[in-house]
Amino acid sequence: MDRYDLIVVGAGIVGAACADCASAEGLRVLLVEPGPIGGGVTASSMGHLVSIDGLPAELALASYSQQQWETLRHLPDIEYSRCGTLWVAGDDEDCARIPQKARRLTDAGVTAVPVDAKQLYELEPSLAPGLAGGLLVEDEGVVYPPAVARRLVERACRQGATLRCARVTALGDHEVSLDDGSRVAGAVLVANGRSLTELLPELPLRLRKGHLVITDRYPGVVRHQLVQMHYTDTAHGDVDDVAFNVQPRPTGQILIGSSREYGSDTTEVSLPMVQRMLRCTFAFVPKLRQLNALRVWAGLRPTTPDGLPYIGRVAGRRGIWVAAGHEGLGVTTAPGTARLLLDLLQGRESAIDIRPYDPARMAA
Ligand SMILES: Cc1cc2nc3c(=O)[nH]c(=O)nc-3n(C[C@H](O)[C@H](O)[C@H](O)COP(=O)(O)OP(=O)(O)OC[C@H]3O[C@@H](n4cnc5c(N)ncnc54)[C@H](O)[C@@H]3O)c2cc1C
Repeated sequence: MDRYDLIVVGAGIVGAACADCASAEGLRVLLVEPGPIGGGVTASSMGHLVSIDGLPAELALASYSQQQWETLRHLPDIEYSRCGTLWVAGDDEDCARIPQKARRLTDAGVTAVPVDAKQLYELEPSLAPGLAGGLLVEDEGVVYPPAVARRLVERACRQGATLRCARVTALGDHEVSLDDGSRVAGAVLVANGRSLTELLPELPLRLRKGHLVITDRYPGVVRHQLVQMHYTDTAHGDVDDVAFNVQPRPTGQILIGSSREYGSDTTEVSLPMVQRMLRCTFAFVPKLRQLNALRVWAGLRPTTPDGLPYIGRVAGRRGIWVAAGHEGLGVTTAPGTARLLLDLLQGRESAIDIRPYDPARMAA
C-alpha cells in the first residue's frame, strides 16, 4: 500500500491551501480530487476576501487569514484586486450600528473607518441618493477563487505533493479507499466541501444556496465591494434572505449577490430569489438596472449548525482530520484554516485560539 504523511481529500480552495501548506513544510502529501481543481463550491463563489464580524471566532479566523493573503495575493493570474469593502448603511438602524462594527473590526486588527454621507458618495457616486453613511475597510480585496485553488495545487506539486484524479470512497484508520479499488495509508484530511457527510456522517452539515449574477463589462460603475450592513445578519440568520452585495471584477464586469436559502440541495436557479436579490440591488445602485447580465448561477454553501467551520481531529476515528463547513467565508479563511490545521498536525501552538473550530464540539 502507498504511504504518505498526509492524504488531502478534495482540491477545493480549502484542500488546496492545506496541501500547499503541508508540502511547504516538507510533508509527503497526496491530494485526491475526482473533478476539476477548484470546481466545487469554490467555483461558484464571489471571491470577496472579507472579515465578517458576526461571531468572534469567525472574525478571528478571517482576520488571521487576511494576514496570509498579504503573501498569497502575489500568486500569478488570480485576478486579485484591492478594491476595498464599503459597508453601506441602508437605514437608520444600520447607521446606528456603524460605530460598534468599526470597533469590533478594529479590535480584531482590521482597519475600518466610518464614512459620512458626503464621503460615501465621493467613494461611490453610483449609489442611490438618501443614504446616510457607511464603513470603509480599505485593505480588503477580491480574487478569482478557482484560479487560486489551481495555483496552490501547482505550487504544492512543485513542493513535492502528488495529485491523483480519484474519489475517496471510504475512510479507515489512517487510510483511505479509492474508487479504483486501491488503498492509501497516512494521516487523512477530509476537505471535501459539501460532500462532507458522505465520509463523515457524524459531522452535521446543511447546504445553503446562494445566487450570483454577472454583467457584461462596465468598468468604473462601482469601485468597491459594496455590502449592506445587514449582510452579517443574513449570513447568520436561519431564514431565506437577500442582502445588497456587489463587486467590481478586475475585468470590468459586475458580480451581484447575494441570497441565502436552506432546503434546496440542487444548484438549480430560482428566478423568484434572483428577482428578490436584484430588487434589493437596484434600490442601492439604480444604474445597474440598465446593464446587461450575462450569466446567473447558484452554489451551495457548506454550513455547520453553529456557523463555524470544522478544523481539527475527528473524535472517535484514528488518523482522520477535517477542514470543512466554511459556509460563505471559505475563500477568505482557507489560508488561515491551513495554518491552524498544520499547527495541530505538527503539535504546535497556534496564533489564534483553535478550540472554537474543534469538530468535537458537535459530540458535546
Ligand atoms: C454564492 C456563493 C458566494 C460565495 N462568496 C464567497 C466570498 O465572496 N468569499 C468567501 O470567502 N467565500 C465565499 N463563498 C464560500 C466559499 O465558496 C466556500 O466556503 C469555499 O469555496 C469552500 O471550499 P471547499 O474547498 O471547502 O469546498 P469545495 O470547493 O466544494 O471543494 C471540495 C472538493 O472536494 C471534492 N470531493 C468531494 N467528494 C470527494 C471525495 N469523496 N473524494 C475526493 N474529493 C472529493 C470536490 O470535487 C471538490 O472539488 C461563497 C459561496 C457561494 C455558494
